Amino acid sequence: MPGNIARVTVNLSLDRLFDYRIPESFDGQIFPGMKVNVPFGKGGLRQAYVITVTDSSGRNDLKEIDSICAGFPKIPDALLKLSDWMAEYYCCPRELTVRNLIPGAVRSGKIKAKTREHCRIADHLKAAEFIAQNESGRQKARAALLKVLMLERELPTDILLLKAGVGKSVLDHLAKAGLVEKIQEEIDRDPFKGMDVIPTKAKTPTAEQAAALEIIREVIDGKRKQHTVLLHGVTCSGKTEVYLQAIDYAITNGGSAIVLVPEISLTPQTVERFRARFGNMVSVLHSGLSDGERRDEWMKVHQGRVRIAVGARSALFAPFTDLKLIIVDEEHEQSYKQSEAPRYNARDVAVMRGKLEHAAVILGSATPSVESHYNAVSGKYAHAIMAHRTDPNIRMPDVRIIDMRSQDDGEGHIPFLSKELIDAVHERLEKGEQSILFLNRRGFAKQLKCDQSDCKFVAECPDCGVPYTYHKKMRILTCHLCGAMVKAPEQCPSCGSPEIRFSGAGTERIENISFAAFKNARIGRMDSDTMTRPELYEEILSAFRNGKIDILVGTQMIAKGLDFPNVTLVGVINADMGLYIDDFRATERTFQLLTQVAGRAGRGDMRGDVIFQTCTPYNAAIVAAANHDCNAFYEEELPVREALSLPPHGHVLVIRFIGEDPAAIQDYAGTLLQKVQPYLSPETNASDPAPCPIERIKGKYRYMVMFRGGNLAYMKKFLRYELYRNPVKGISIQVDVDPMSLM
Ligand code: ADP
Ligand code: ZN
Ligand code: ZN
Repeated sequence: MPGNIARVTVNLSLDRLFDYRIPESFDGQIFPGMKVNVPFGKGGLRQAYVITVTDSSGRNDLKEIDSICAGFPKIPDALLKLSDWMAEYYCCPRELTVRNLIPGAVRSGKIKAKTREHCRIADHLKAAEFIAQNESGRQKARAALLKVLMLERELPTDILLLKAGVGKSVLDHLAKAGLVEKIQEEIDRDPFKGMDVIPTKAKTPTAEQAAALEIIREVIDGKRKQHTVLLHGVTCSGKTEVYLQAIDYAITNGGSAIVLVPEISLTPQTVERFRARFGNMVSVLHSGLSDGERRDEWMKVHQGRVRIAVGARSALFAPFTDLKLIIVDEEHEQSYKQSEAPRYNARDVAVMRGKLEHAAVILGSATPSVESHYNAVSGKYAHAIMAHRTDPNIRMPDVRIIDMRSQDDGEGHIPFLSKELIDAVHERLEKGEQSILFLNRRGFAKQLKCDQSDCKFVAECPDCGVPYTYHKKMRILTCHLCGAMVKAPEQCPSCGSPEIRFSGAGTERIENISFAAFKNARIGRMDSDTMTRPELYEEILSAFRNGKIDILVGTQMIAKGLDFPNVTLVGVINADMGLYIDDFRATERTFQLLTQVAGRAGRGDMRGDVIFQTCTPYNAAIVAAANHDCNAFYEEELPVREALSLPPHGHVLVIRFIGEDPAAIQDYAGTLLQKVQPYLSPETNASDPAPCPIERIKGKYRYMVMFRGGNLAYMKKFLRYELYRNPVKGISIQVDVDPMSLM
């Protein structure tokens, strides 16, 4: 028998549930996952989610639930359970993980279904009479409209008026006279309006695809001990085709499926591949939709009108109740980690959702994360490997490593571009082929420096303490952390010397150098400075695809998920970049990025070349990427992680303390560290409070404490209790479990 007490979360980050009595009038009508209005404090009514219904409470002075929020979709039980796990694992307030389950556009309740007005004849006999009497004469327009409607039975108002060739007042008269009836019909806002796709059929799998699908089917059918599969497939090995056929299997067996892709690769082309195979069974959830579209796409899932949801991170919470498969494409991507609380990694939560709902999970990547690789080789995940491209005629590109320290800087020397790279680009220009120059930094120069030996001034953002980046075209300096923008000085602001110099290169500078080095070449640039509107992204890509650009210079924006058949050269301007930042994932990230970039060249029918320019030509990550050899990288990296109890050999939890007064922060961090000591397992290593690698952002100081290894469960329990019930004034605290970046 159901209880009469509802335990609810309100919209505050206190990590607390509150009990309310269920009044008799709602007996048997209140369930977990529903939204209700409750009296709260002095502030009147608040909305709250019911988490459990129970029959006892620690208090006996309970207030009553006021009302049920009408028309608000109920959260499925399995997702409530998942949110409970997330609060515990990610050490964050329960309220946030519940809120996080539902997109804002649905949560607010402000966005309603869109309707379209239809008309039909209210009384056929009367209408026929009216037409007969008025076919000519003063009311012939009304008769004409009725005639159209008699023939068509029912029409949307706008189309009816067009067909009859009359104005709205004519219709209104007829409606008033009771001859025409108006109906409001709910319609979906359609993010695919006007986009037709050509349906595709399943391709006959290659041997490697067939083997991968065999494993996946066994996992879907529950015939293996693992419920997660790592699909490690090189670029163009046909991973997407495997996903499509796996989804087909899952839905044919009565389930539904979720496909997660990183936001940056959620392009119309990606979505189109799923729509081309599954048509209207696909719902798309991402941030580019209008609020109304997002609400409607989500409601389609909730009402069971679609079987597949494709989207970025948050699509993981698509409210299916018969989930059979979750696919996480590019599982190594950093963007699966949410940067605000709850700081979850959608890949890891996907594995947990799969476990709770008995659904299979496929993690796909050409460069699996060290963690997922380890889980696959240790047998925790099933392991499917596709080492060959689907088209055996397309070979992996040849990668050359160029040592930039041995470049001759005599006559004709061009800064930042090696002789080898310049020759290779010229060769492409002569043959009418295309090149990509890749650099992971936007702007013109890394920094602006004074050349006077007794000055050495470096222009820095006063709020963040990092060097400004110089943007030549706009003659400004910008801070990439806080976005601050100032006019670039003509002379040194410190000593007045005109000898100020720009050191290092960004994409803008490489573009400028290329204009000089490759006369008459058509050069384009793609980075977040030039891509100020989403349309520009499509514009430059289609210009490149149509051969209107010879050389495309860009940041990681061009490194991912793009197919250009005529690109036969990729030059990486500085392959070291990213290796020397103060983060244990720097090497892994460099390896993944370089491998991804190398995978780009030579799609289509032509052979590709890749050039890595570097000052550390023997670096293991660079060499492994050049040889397309993931295992060499893992073999190098895993012992390092093991020695330091870092993932996958130990969990990491970082607490960041942010505020205006560095002494107060350090003090508080020290006290918290003392308090947490009794809850640490003996294997856990705790660092002393220290400034974050980026010490200041927007004028606020940042300190951190890092915990490594051992069992962190007790500590997390204590932290939740300590941090959220007694917030500290002037210090904001971030708990980051499994951080993707230590910055
Ligand atoms: P990935 O996602 O691994 O980069 P894709 O799924 O995009 O690879 O496949 C690369 C190309 O190979 C695509 O053009 C795709 O249509 C084609 N392809 C995939 N599987 C097959 C197959 N079994 N037979 C023929 N072509 C295939
Ligand atoms: Zn700044
Ligand atoms: Zn100076």
